[in-house]
Amino acid sequence: LGGKLRDSLRKLQTGGHDVTKAQLQQILNEIARALMEADVNVKLVMTLRDKVQSKVEHLLRNEEDEEVTRRHSSNLSKTVQRAVVDELVALLSPGGDVKGAKKVYTMKRGKPNVILFLGLQGAGKTTTIAKFANYYQRRGWKTAMVCADTFRAGAFDQLKQNSTKLRVPFYGSYTEADPVIIAEKGVNQFIKERYEVIIVDTSGRHRQEEALFEEMQEIAAAVQPDNCVLVVDATQGQAVYDQALAFHNAVDVGSVIITKLDGHAKGGGALSAVSATKSPIIFLGSGEHFDDLEPFNAQSFVSKLLGFGDIRGLMDAMNSVSDGKSQEELMKKMSRGEFTLRDMYNQFSKVMNLGPMNKLMGMIPGMPDYLMPQGEESTHRLRKFMVMMDSMSNAELDGKVDLRTKYDPQVEKRIRRIAAGSGCHPNEVKMLLVVHKQFEGMVSKMGKSGMVGKNAQARQ
Ligand code: GDP
Ligand code: MG
Repeated sequence: LGGKLRDSLRKLQTGGHDVTKAQLQQILNEIARALMEADVNVKLVMTLRDKVQSKVEHLLRNEEDEEVTRRHSSNLSKTVQRAVVDELVALLSPGGDVKGAKKVYTMKRGKPNVILFLGLQGAGKTTTIAKFANYYQRRGWKTAMVCADTFRAGAFDQLKQNSTKLRVPFYGSYTEADPVIIAEKGVNQFIKERYEVIIVDTSGRHRQEEALFEEMQEIAAAVQPDNCVLVVDATQGQAVYDQALAFHNAVDVGSVIITKLDGHAKGGGALSAVSATKSPIIFLGSGEHFDDLEPFNAQSFVSKLLGFGDIRGLMDAMNSVSDGKSQEELMKKMSRGEFTLRDMYNQFSKVMNLGPMNKLMGMIPGMPDYLMPQGEESTHRLRKFMVMMDSMSNAELDGKVDLRTKYDPQVEKRIRRIAAGSGCHPNEVKMLLVVHKQFEGMVSKMGKSGMVGKNAQARQ
């Protein structure tokens, strides 16, 4: 999401102590504008704005006692921020605030789950089907694919190639031109062979738009899918709502997958897709490789959308390698907005042990771009930072002495000592301190908004 929303939220933080109702209006308008710029559907933005406003006003009105009102006003920034986060998460959560929301379809073991993939040509269906098949096959499901895209030349070959790479069986035909017949034959064959996950690929394209939706209905009638998954290209922005609605009106969409979130997409289209189909997002696609598919988590998505970084994803990844207890303590500290150099050191050392650096680095909130490039290079930088921190005293690591004041001879002396001890230039130490400051700012922001700690867990 654009830096604008971050700016308006930051304004709340700094001006937090004397936010008046007029300022609240102004800030809500800014948030609304920022969400629209992030491709969130205009109607959704208005609903969200009203909900946040009434939530906040309700809170203020309920406080008759002036003393309490004053206390609440000083927390207004926090309240607004939290309300925005909560509303966005609710909009994205099945069974949440979306009227008539559907439950996530759960795959059943030992029986055929026929999954029909829908979406416009180029949305990423065939690519996502390969990722989806890979995901389930790896988890022990007997998986197969059916190619019912007879429109695009090479569609069958594309699926066949993926199928060979993944060792997932496929059904298709070079000669049969009727996608309905192929879909039906393929699905029936795989049901007979007791496949559990049977994925049907469709074309998403017809000579006429009406005919496309008719074709989808015919295929659906022929294969009786257990779940229809709509694949949505995140880069389509504001167009997503109408597209999703058109598919949903033709076929009973049950789940959504958003693709191409690795590019310049702003992510707001995800909210449109959920709203138009009343269906939950199940996965996000973030690249062209088979592994670039993540199960959807509303909390993580919203925190990324708002520019907080994917703290949940990062914590999950870190929990998988660290003992739960120290991580729990850290979460507690972070929820209070505390994050010392020593905490940063510990986090870096965990990240070093985790592998696929790039993905993880992307999850770290506030990670500056120059730390983001190629895995090797960023690992090297992290290691260098850790060597510098090794040359710090306990007091410095624990934030008990100031290392940030500029042009203070005492501070300069400490920085020179750390630089000498680690074989670095003093400017490199200063860069480390800048990185830490960014982390600290982000953590403090998250702590205040309740994005980390017990509450965030409970809301999951
Ligand atoms: P289909 O017409 O819906 O089957 O779309 P395809 O699966 O053929 O994908 C169209 C293009 O989008 C291909 O070049 C894919 O490599 C690309 N693509 C699909 N998903 C993603 C994604 O998550 N990220 C990126 N960067 N590209 C994607
Ligand atoms: Mg395709």
